[in-house]
Amino acid sequence: MDKIHDIIIIGAGVVGCALARALSRYKLDVLVLEKEDDVAGSTSKANSGVIHAGYHKKPGSLKATLNVAGHSYFQRLSDELDFPVKFIGKLVVAKKENEIEDLRKLMDRGFKNGVKGLELIDGKQIKHFEPNVNGFAAMHSPVSGITSPYLMCIALAENAHLNGVDFVFDTEVTGISKEKEIFVVQVSNGSIYRSRWLINSAGLNSARVSQMICENDHRMYPCRGEYYITDKVDTLIKRLIYPTPSKDGVTLGIHITPTLDGNILIGPSAEYIERLDDTASTREVMDKLKRESSQFLPPIKEAKFIRNYAGIRAKLFHPSSGVKDADFVIEEDESIKRMINLIGIESPGLTAAPAIAEKVVGIIGEKEALVDDEKFNPERKAPVVFEHLSDDEKARLIEQDPDYGEIVCRCETITKKEVLAALNNPLGVRTLDGVKKRCRAGMGRCQGGFCTPRIVEIMTDEYGISPEEIYKNNESSNMFFGKVKDDREEG
Ligand SMILES: Cc1cc2nc3c(=O)[nH]c(=O)nc-3n(C[C@H](O)[C@H](O)[C@H](O)COP(=O)(O)OP(=O)(O)OC[C@H]3O[C@@H](n4cnc5c(N)ncnc54)[C@H](O)[C@@H]3O)c2cc1C
Repeated sequence: MDKIHDIIIIGAGVVGCALARALSRYKLDVLVLEKEDDVAGSTSKANSGVIHAGYHKKPGSLKATLNVAGHSYFQRLSDELDFPVKFIGKLVVAKKENEIEDLRKLMDRGFKNGVKGLELIDGKQIKHFEPNVNGFAAMHSPVSGITSPYLMCIALAENAHLNGVDFVFDTEVTGISKEKEIFVVQVSNGSIYRSRWLINSAGLNSARVSQMICENDHRMYPCRGEYYITDKVDTLIKRLIYPTPSKDGVTLGIHITPTLDGNILIGPSAEYIERLDDTASTREVMDKLKRESSQFLPPIKEAKFIRNYAGIRAKLFHPSSGVKDADFVIEEDESIKRMINLIGIESPGLTAAPAIAEKVVGIIGEKEALVDDEKFNPERKAPVVFEHLSDDEKARLIEQDPDYGEIVCRCETITKKEVLAALNNPLGVRTLDGVKKRCRAGMGRCQGGFCTPRIVEIMTDEYGISPEEIYKNNESSNMFFGKVKDDREEG
């Protein structure tokens, strides 16, 4: 691998993908190295999916300015790249009168950060907006929104790829050195990649990756956030419902998030843990999530819970040190020139990602002229979502292609044609989770109980492989290990 890329990005989370897309508009040879099997394999798939307005971070901080700037990109990105966003608004609810002062402070912060439309409302107005929600008063943020974090990453990465960026999955960066002016990047399979610029967008591993070549004392303090997902109950709330943030300022508190698909997320909790990859869930936390969310939304107790998951915050501080927040680190290393580190990109990192990408482009653009690529195509089309079509459109598609008439995932009404589109995705991801992220097959009430065997059959036919060669996600996650009964014994 003697080729010298202009830029290597380490990590295909939302920040790496946004950056890959932002760089793809220039005449540059860009490569993304990702240790997982797909984009959004880590924190970028396990968060609340909230497009934050930008009122909760300290004025002047990178977190605040890049949040507000990032928010302003979303509608255009969604239009160009065909991934869903909805600006449904948010209520930050005070349970008692003595929390109103905290809401006022939050509003003041919001105004300083340039957030539009914030207003204080009383308990009566809360009921007018959200009849099922209890509260003494609330801050209404009309511009807050939701997206699908993994569809966003897929859209950004597919458009970057369409514009010439290469993605290499299942490839962990294990060592970095510099020979003269060129970075030499060693990866898990023994290969070596070279580049002029190196961008460390490795999320929870970003401190460790930077210390493969840079001298700094950044340290990650992983903080787990667990969630519960309910079955579809989209009549319960229309907006995001948040509590007044805790006084320690460490988290935003357990909130209630309607998803684009009609489910509700409850969480996240906040628990400092030892390991960067410890996404276990506990009964204790699940009970706490139910208890706390039902204080604002009593009917949530009746909702059916279909799954839980956990994401890990990339925090650069531990509250026991007295520190209440640490800003994003986005900088070219002082001594290792053209190495840009993105460290501690915790919330609001999803919202800020498009603005973080532009900031990095700016750092590179200060050092060398970036030449526009006239062939850059800003648009990308998402595959058909059958369930979103009218009856007439559905009938027309089934007539054109009978695979639209075969429902594979009953819970989410996903057709065989959509599964095939997911299997033939432009990034070449060939795992069961890759299908799930792209077309939602397996995300419904039965959690894949019905559709998994059908998808496996479609995968073996389409790819011409045996079931033993099908992985859930990475190469150590085989779904099948062999037959329990020999074909000859059948009948
Ligand atoms: C519980 C929770 C809730 C959140 N809610 C929100 C929200 O509602 N709104 C919001 O704006 N933000 C939210 N965030 C923050 C947001 O999710 C993150 O800021 C964002 O996803 C970070 O993206 P990233 O690309 O920096 O990191 P990641 O998504 O972690 O991506 C880094 C990638 O680097 C890869 N990698 C790591 N090491 C290596 C290596 N050595 N070689 C190759 N690849 C490597 C990883 O596999 C990973 O795919 C939340 C975070 C958490 C934990």
